[in-house]
Amino acid sequence: MRVDFNVDLNEEGNVIDSFRIQKKLPTIKFLKEKGAEKIILISHLGQPEKEDFWTEKFTLRPIADYLEKILKEKIYFCSLKDFKEIKNMIDKSEKSAIWLLENIRYHEGEEKNDKNFASQLSRLGDLYINEAFSVSHREVASICAITEFLPSYPGFLFGEEIEHLDNIITNPESPVVIILGGAKVEDKLLLIEAFSSKADWILIGGVMANTILKAWNFEIGDSLYEEKMIEKAKILGSQKAELMLPGDFFVLTQNQQKKSRELGQVKKGDNILDIGPVAAYTFGKIIQKAATIFWNGPMGKIEDKRFEDGTKAIIEAILENKTTKIVIGGGDTLMAFKILKPEYKIQNTEYRFFSTGGGAMLKYLTGKSLPGLKALS
Ligand code: ADP
Ligand code: MG
Repeated sequence: MRVDFNVDLNEEGNVIDSFRIQKKLPTIKFLKEKGAEKIILISHLGQPEKEDFWTEKFTLRPIADYLEKILKEKIYFCSLKDFKEIKNMIDKSEKSAIWLLENIRYHEGEEKNDKNFASQLSRLGDLYINEAFSVSHREVASICAITEFLPSYPGFLFGEEIEHLDNIITNPESPVVIILGGAKVEDKLLLIEAFSSKADWILIGGVMANTILKAWNFEIGDSLYEEKMIEKAKILGSQKAELMLPGDFFVLTQNQQKKSRELGQVKKGDNILDIGPVAAYTFGKIIQKAATIFWNGPMGKIEDKRFEDGTKAIIEAILENKTTKIVIGGGDTLMAFKILKPEYKIQNTEYRFFSTGGGAMLKYLTGKSLPGLKALS
């Protein structure tokens, strides 16, 4: 089973945020209950370079320890490289043992979607399950090529992710509100295009907003923006959806003071780090009217307490909508809930779905097919 245990670890190697791991447990438990002879978990961690391969730098060992704690089951960790040896070791273990293999990106064949490598990997098992929706936009061996060698199925969470995203793409109940912020401008500009005829409002904050304002010749001072997306942002239009950009901001001035600024009054040297109170209020009002909401990307630099209010306002507005279908995704967006609303326990309900996919989620929403999904079908 391919999973995505690529989670943040602190300096002591402890798991900081376990949402991604927690969400995989139902499928692991299901396999166990159904009497799987062995369960072999495959994951990557980080982006190791060649010199990091088979070192401790990107090892999944701490994840095995963590999994053991939350599953209350022995987790066998296999740091071997050679598949014959791995198979030997697994074969010898007790019935229904759960194994976690070392970082799959330590094998060169993984990134190359190499068939020979996938074939070796496939010989470890009888069935393949993709429970790594968040990696399924990548054409890699443990997601794509492996499906050519084994009967292959999606995991439960994979299915849920697709179902909830499909709800937004096809016939979402209107009004539809798309909220986009954060820093990965390239992916998100594509989302604006994709939803310009489907959504009623597209609310924009973060580096996204900076980039569009810069393209439209507004002064943004020293604010962060995505240079290579300027040309694209210049011709950004909308068919139906109203594009809402913030009309006020909080900035950090040249002499490191937090100041509020209206659009048009941003000065050279200012750094826009949050949407202002009027924008937060306006966005909140629109969110209240929504029947369908998708949110990805914080409104400001949430790592700095002084600039968390805009994002906090969005969280509050969203949580007030108890009967609105809401999908929320993105690593930093989920982190925002944890930091800014610690008393709220992130969990999926009938109305709220927290996606574990970042890039995969955005790609799927823009209407592109995911290699991992294609490989399964
Ligand atoms: P997600 O992980 O939810 O998809 P992104 O990775 O795209 O979100 O963006 C999150 C990052 O964007 C955060 O680190 C945040 O500090 C940063 N960010 C948001 N707004 C600003 C801003 N105005 N200036 C600088 N950084 C910003
Ligand atoms: Mg992020």
